[in-house]
Amino acid sequence: MKTSKLNAVVKSIKNKHPELKLYFVSGKKMLQYGGSGFGFYNNDDKLICIQQAVPNYIKLYALFHELGHHLCYKNGCACCSNCSKSEMHANLFALRQLILENETDALSNFVEQIEQGAMMFDRDKIRGVLYHYYAGCKEIMKTSLWRKCRSKIRYSKRHRQRIKAMKQFLGKHMDPFLRKNVGAL
Ligand SMILES: [Zn+2]
Ligand SMILES: [Zn+2]
Repeated sequence: MKTSKLNAVVKSIKNKHPELKLYFVSGKKMLQYGGSGFGFYNNDDKLICIQQAVPNYIKLYALFHELGHHLCYKNGCACCSNCSKSEMHANLFALRQLILENETDALSNFVEQIEQGAMMFDRDKIRGVLYHYYAGCKEIMKTSLWRKCRSKIRYSKRHRQRIKAMKQFLGKHMDPFLRKNVGAL
Protein backbone atom coordinates (compact mmCIF):
# COMPACT_ATOMS: atom_id res chain seq x y z
CA MET A 1 0.00 0.00 0.00
CA LYS A 2 1.38 3.36 -1.08
CA THR A 3 2.16 6.06 1.49
CA SER A 4 0.27 8.57 -0.68
CA LYS A 5 -2.91 6.46 -0.29
CA LEU A 6 -2.45 6.27 3.49
CA ASN A 7 -1.85 10.04 3.64
CA ALA A 8 -5.03 10.64 1.64
CA VAL A 9 -7.04 8.52 4.10
CA VAL A 10 -5.50 10.38 7.06
CA LYS A 11 -6.33 13.73 5.46
CA SER A 12 -9.94 12.78 4.84
CA ILE A 13 -10.35 11.52 8.45
CA LYS A 14 -8.91 14.80 9.78
CA ASN A 15 -11.29 16.79 7.57
CA LYS A 16 -14.33 14.79 8.65
CA HIS A 17 -13.41 14.75 12.34
CA PRO A 18 -11.63 18.01 13.18
CA GLU A 19 -11.98 17.25 16.91
CA LEU A 20 -9.49 14.36 16.56
CA LYS A 21 -5.80 14.53 17.31
CA LEU A 22 -4.11 11.93 15.16
CA TYR A 23 -0.42 11.05 15.48
CA PHE A 24 1.98 8.42 14.20
CA VAL A 25 4.43 7.67 17.00
CA SER A 26 7.34 5.39 17.90
CA GLY A 27 6.80 2.24 19.96
CA LYS A 28 8.50 3.93 22.93
CA LYS A 29 6.12 6.88 22.75
CA MET A 30 3.16 4.51 22.51
CA LEU A 31 4.20 2.94 25.83
CA GLN A 32 4.54 6.39 27.40
CA TYR A 33 0.99 7.18 26.35
CA GLY A 34 -0.06 3.91 27.94
CA GLY A 35 -0.81 2.05 24.73
CA SER A 36 0.48 -1.19 23.33
CA GLY A 37 0.05 -2.92 20.01
CA PHE A 38 -0.48 -0.96 16.79
CA GLY A 39 -2.64 1.87 18.04
CA PHE A 40 -4.77 3.29 20.81
CA TYR A 41 -7.58 5.75 21.37
CA ASN A 42 -8.13 8.04 24.33
CA ASN A 43 -11.60 9.57 24.41
CA ASP A 44 -10.81 12.23 27.05
CA ASP A 45 -8.24 13.80 24.72
CA LYS A 46 -9.89 12.61 21.46
CA LEU A 47 -6.46 11.22 20.70
CA ILE A 48 -5.51 8.48 18.24
CA CYS A 49 -1.92 7.23 18.21
CA ILE A 50 -0.69 4.78 15.60
CA GLN A 51 2.59 2.87 15.69
CA GLN A 52 4.82 4.29 12.96
CA ALA A 53 7.27 1.38 12.63
CA VAL A 54 4.86 -1.01 10.89
CA PRO A 55 3.90 -1.40 7.20
CA ASN A 56 1.29 0.99 5.79
CA TYR A 57 -1.44 -1.65 5.52
CA ILE A 58 -1.17 -2.33 9.27
CA LYS A 59 -1.21 1.42 9.99
CA LEU A 60 -4.38 1.60 7.90
CA TYR A 61 -6.38 -1.03 9.76
CA ALA A 62 -5.06 0.15 13.14
CA LEU A 63 -6.23 3.64 12.20
CA PHE A 64 -9.68 2.43 11.16
CA HIS A 65 -9.98 0.39 14.36
CA GLU A 66 -9.21 3.42 16.56
CA LEU A 67 -11.50 5.62 14.48
CA GLY A 68 -14.21 3.03 15.10
CA HIS A 69 -13.76 3.54 18.87
CA HIS A 70 -14.00 7.28 18.39
CA LEU A 71 -17.24 7.01 16.41
CA CYS A 72 -18.83 4.72 19.00
CA TYR A 73 -18.13 7.33 21.69
CA LYS A 74 -19.29 10.14 19.45
CA ASN A 75 -22.58 8.35 18.71
CA GLY A 76 -23.14 7.33 22.33
CA CYS A 77 -23.04 3.65 21.36
CA ALA A 78 -24.01 1.23 24.14
CA CYS A 79 -20.73 -0.62 23.59
CA CYS A 80 -18.83 2.12 25.43
CA SER A 81 -19.67 0.42 28.72
CA ASN A 82 -18.84 -3.05 27.42
CA CYS A 83 -15.17 -3.51 26.55
CA SER A 84 -15.52 -6.73 24.51
CA LYS A 85 -18.36 -5.24 22.50
CA SER A 86 -16.47 -2.01 21.88
CA GLU A 87 -13.48 -3.99 20.50
CA MET A 88 -15.88 -5.89 18.28
CA HIS A 89 -17.49 -2.68 16.99
CA ALA A 90 -14.08 -1.10 16.31
CA ASN A 91 -13.02 -4.12 14.28
CA LEU A 92 -16.32 -4.32 12.39
CA PHE A 93 -15.92 -0.68 11.45
CA ALA A 94 -12.33 -1.32 10.31
CA LEU A 95 -13.37 -4.33 8.20
CA ARG A 96 -16.13 -2.30 6.51
CA GLN A 97 -13.72 0.53 5.75
CA LEU A 98 -11.13 -1.83 4.26
CA ILE A 99 -13.79 -3.25 1.95
CA LEU A 100 -14.86 0.27 0.96
CA GLU A 101 -11.26 1.27 0.28
CA ASN A 102 -10.72 -1.98 -1.62
CA GLU A 103 -7.52 -2.65 0.34
CA THR A 104 -7.41 -6.41 -0.01
CA ASP A 105 -3.88 -6.90 1.31
CA ALA A 106 -4.73 -5.00 4.47
CA LEU A 107 -8.00 -6.93 4.67
CA SER A 108 -6.26 -10.30 4.30
CA ASN A 109 -3.78 -9.46 7.02
CA PHE A 110 -6.45 -8.10 9.33
CA VAL A 111 -8.68 -11.14 8.81
CA GLU A 112 -5.72 -13.36 9.72
CA GLN A 113 -5.14 -11.30 12.85
CA ILE A 114 -8.77 -11.62 13.92
CA GLU A 115 -8.68 -15.39 13.36
CA GLN A 116 -5.54 -15.59 15.51
CA GLY A 117 -7.23 -13.50 18.18
CA ALA A 118 -10.23 -15.82 18.29
CA MET A 119 -7.89 -18.81 18.51
CA MET A 120 -5.95 -17.23 21.39
CA PHE A 121 -9.22 -16.59 23.20
CA ASP A 122 -10.12 -20.28 23.04
CA ARG A 123 -6.67 -21.69 23.55
CA ASP A 124 -4.98 -19.42 26.09
CA LYS A 125 -8.00 -18.22 28.06
CA ILE A 126 -6.13 -14.93 28.08
CA ARG A 127 -7.16 -12.23 30.57
CA GLY A 128 -6.44 -8.52 30.96
CA VAL A 129 -6.64 -5.85 28.27
CA LEU A 130 -6.27 -8.30 25.41
CA TYR A 131 -9.09 -10.44 26.75
CA HIS A 132 -11.63 -7.97 25.38
CA TYR A 133 -9.91 -7.67 22.04
CA TYR A 134 -9.83 -11.44 21.61
CA ALA A 135 -13.39 -11.86 22.86
CA GLY A 136 -14.47 -9.30 20.23
CA CYS A 137 -12.60 -11.25 17.54
CA LYS A 138 -14.57 -14.36 18.36
CA GLU A 139 -17.90 -12.53 18.11
CA ILE A 140 -17.00 -11.02 14.74
CA MET A 141 -16.69 -14.47 13.21
CA LYS A 142 -20.44 -14.98 13.71
CA THR A 143 -21.41 -11.98 11.56
CA SER A 144 -22.43 -11.79 7.91
CA LEU A 145 -19.78 -9.09 7.36
CA TRP A 146 -17.18 -11.68 8.32
CA ARG A 147 -18.40 -14.05 5.61
CA LYS A 148 -18.21 -11.20 3.12
CA CYS A 149 -14.61 -10.46 4.16
CA ARG A 150 -13.64 -14.11 3.82
CA SER A 151 -15.05 -14.24 0.30
CA LYS A 152 -13.15 -11.06 -0.65
CA ILE A 153 -9.75 -12.28 0.47
CA ARG A 154 -10.20 -15.56 -1.37
CA TYR A 155 -9.77 -13.54 -4.53
CA SER A 156 -7.25 -11.06 -3.16
CA LYS A 157 -4.05 -10.23 -5.01
CA ARG A 158 -1.98 -12.25 -2.58
CA HIS A 159 -4.28 -15.23 -2.94
CA ARG A 160 -4.05 -15.05 -6.74
CA GLN A 161 -0.25 -14.86 -6.47
CA ARG A 162 -0.23 -17.98 -4.28
CA ILE A 163 -2.46 -19.82 -6.77
CA LYS A 164 -0.25 -18.72 -9.67
CA ALA A 165 2.91 -19.91 -7.92
CA MET A 166 1.25 -23.21 -7.14
CA LYS A 167 0.12 -23.67 -10.74
CA GLN A 168 3.65 -23.00 -11.98
CA PHE A 169 4.98 -25.56 -9.55
CA LEU A 170 2.39 -28.11 -10.61
CA GLY A 171 3.06 -27.32 -14.28
CA LYS A 172 6.59 -28.57 -13.77
CA HIS A 173 6.00 -31.43 -11.39
CA MET A 174 2.51 -32.84 -11.78
CA ASP A 175 0.57 -34.88 -14.29
CA PRO A 176 -1.81 -33.18 -16.78
CA PHE A 177 -5.01 -34.25 -14.98
CA LEU A 178 -4.03 -32.50 -11.72
CA ARG A 179 -2.74 -29.51 -13.60
CA LYS A 180 -6.09 -29.13 -15.34
CA ASN A 181 -8.09 -29.47 -12.12
CA VAL A 182 -6.01 -27.31 -9.86
CA GLY A 183 -8.19 -24.37 -10.82
CA ALA A 184 -10.81 -25.85 -8.51
CA LEU A 185 -8.62 -25.41 -5.45
ZN1 LIG B 1 -20.12 0.64 19.49
ZN1 LIG C 1 -9.58 -1.31 20.41
